[in-house]
Amino acid sequence: MSARLVIDLDVFAQNLTAVRARVAPAEHMLVVKDDAYGHGLAPIVRRARQEGVSWFGAFDVRTALIVRSLVGPLARVFVWSITGVDEARAAVDAELDLGVGDLQVLEDVAEASRPGANARVHLKVDSGLRRNGIRPEQWDAAVSSVGRMVAEERVRLEGVWSHIAEASDEEDDRSRERFDAAVDAVRRSGMPVAFRHLAASAAGFARAEFRYDLARIGAFAYGIRSADGPSERELGVRPAATVFADVIAVNDDDVTIDLGSMHGLPSTASNRLSLGTPAGPRRLLEVRPGYSRVEAWGGAQVGDSLAVVGGDAPDSATDLAERLGTIGEEVALRLYPALSREYRGR
Ligand SMILES: *Cc1c(COP(=O)(O)O)cnc(C)c1O
Repeated sequence: MSARLVIDLDVFAQNLTAVRARVAPAEHMLVVKDDAYGHGLAPIVRRARQEGVSWFGAFDVRTALIVRSLVGPLARVFVWSITGVDEARAAVDAELDLGVGDLQVLEDVAEASRPGANARVHLKVDSGLRRNGIRPEQWDAAVSSVGRMVAEERVRLEGVWSHIAEASDEEDDRSRERFDAAVDAVRRSGMPVAFRHLAASAAGFARAEFRYDLARIGAFAYGIRSADGPSERELGVRPAATVFADVIAVNDDDVTIDLGSMHGLPSTASNRLSLGTPAGPRRLLEVRPGYSRVEAWGGAQVGDSLAVVGGDAPDSATDLAERLGTIGEEVALRLYPALSREYRGR
């Protein structure tokens, strides 16, 4: 298959600069879940570290341990899916920052960390999303048990955090009130809270009062804007990745590329996507399982490289997502992982 994902690390680095400028004085935690949103974990983490990113958000422990090995001991690596005592112990030993949104996980962390280990805990309150997080009515009990673990030097309370829907300002405002109340309860108990973090890309960019000490931003750092949200120009970012595919056959009215639905190009993208060709944008006519047909142009040749979607293509992942009624991450994560990768930039 000729289709490939080309990731421009210099564009990514420019996005990091834009993110940092936008969220300052809060720090930027670069979220790298899902293999860095399909961009490839190791090259993304290495470049981000070179660019001065000091917090990484890794979702699961397995990924976080890889990140730790890439960034060395000084950067902070935040993980928020921890299953069982063994995983908790591995996380504590690697000096990860542990996002704990469940009393059972808190017990596991306490059991995994010897007195003196000072495991770094960020307690998560459920601020309304109801997916994960300690319910407000259990918060005081959780804070008391953290207090006991802190006294035993098993854990150090580093932060309080939550996740918000970023779907409506009103709902997010209510979440923020619950979040502030949770932080106040910790401080009243006598424990300092060094890192409060609530926002992801959308709220982190749009709403200063959501940034607190740390903004956990993934999508915008890769240049994946929100569907129906501000443009890339307004955000000051660009998609770092582009999917390319080569022409494998030239027909009377169309050309064929060897990228199809079985590689993750949605069949519903037919007639909803423009590809970059040597003669300018041309319409995607039909997506078949193993190949697709694209509107022809004069002089088309086998081997011509077409920009299918992304930063160097007429349409971004989010442009396509909007036409399909989904989000850019979904398009990216269906398409990018199936492709071989090339990196540009240093
Ligand atoms: C994915 C995720 C983020 C980053 O969200 P983006 O919209 O991609 O910036 C932040 N926090 C948590 C808990 C997440 O799962």
